[in-house]
Amino acid sequence: MADGRDSDLADALAEVGRRVGQAVTDVLERLRPAYEAIADVANRAEVKAVLSAAEQVLRHRPCLCLCWRAHPADRGICEPFDAVITGQYSSDVLGDIDVPLCAPCAAAWAARRFAG
Ligand SMILES: [Zn+2]
Ligand SMILES: [Zn+2]
Repeated sequence: MADGRDSDLADALAEVGRRVGQAVTDVLERLRPAYEAIADVANRAEVKAVLSAAEQVLRHRPCLCLCWRAHPADRGICEPFDAVITGQYSSDVLGDIDVPLCAPCAAAWAARRFAG
């Protein structure tokens, strides 16, 4: 008798284990297309291009020149993501602050400073 109950219990546990295992497998199987879709998208050329462009932007310092104020006559010269030196910007509100500048903007600042 006791043996029968034990083996029933063992069968029941085995059945539970089998169902849980099956459920986990089902979930993984259902998630697999999503993973594959993400991996697929990440491998697409246009996505790689966007990612590498983002990396490039992050590698460069942005030019924080206030072109329209600092050199209004040459606003188009700015290379916005290619700051190479640090300039000093005198602000009424913030005082003197260091700002990254791209080369053309730095030249424009210098020209303005020399001009008076
Ligand atoms: Zn500028
Ligand atoms: Zn600039």
